[in-house]
Amino acid sequence: MQQERVVFKVNKDLCSACGLCIRECPQGAIALIWGKADIDPDCCNGCQRCLDFCPQGAIFESERVFPAELVTTIDGLKKQAEGIVARIEKLVAGV
Ligand code: SF4
Ligand code: SF4
Repeated sequence: MQQERVVFKVNKDLCSACGLCIRECPQGAIALIWGKADIDPDCCNGCQRCLDFCPQGAIFESERVFPAELVTTIDGLKKQAEGIVARIEKLVAGV
């Protein structure tokens, strides 16, 4: 199954734990965790119902970052860092 790029998240600072989104979510994707609503992106179908019902405007659309993308980004950063270290070593050696 292809995972959606768009996910919905909860701004914990705004959430008042009223539970409306939990009641309205057709997928059962939202639960109260540590007194704040939390959306499981693997259960969410992107219907946006919670977004419409939240009286606090605490739910927002976000972009999902997939693990493979993180690995690619980290690999790129590692290569950049290695290049910088090599240049510094050359400078220190006076080459
Ligand atoms: S977008 Fe729809 S399925 Fe996803 S958490 Fe909100 S109400 Fe549930
Ligand atoms: S509807 Fe909004 S304020 Fe209420 S529990 Fe859900 S996210 Fe929190």
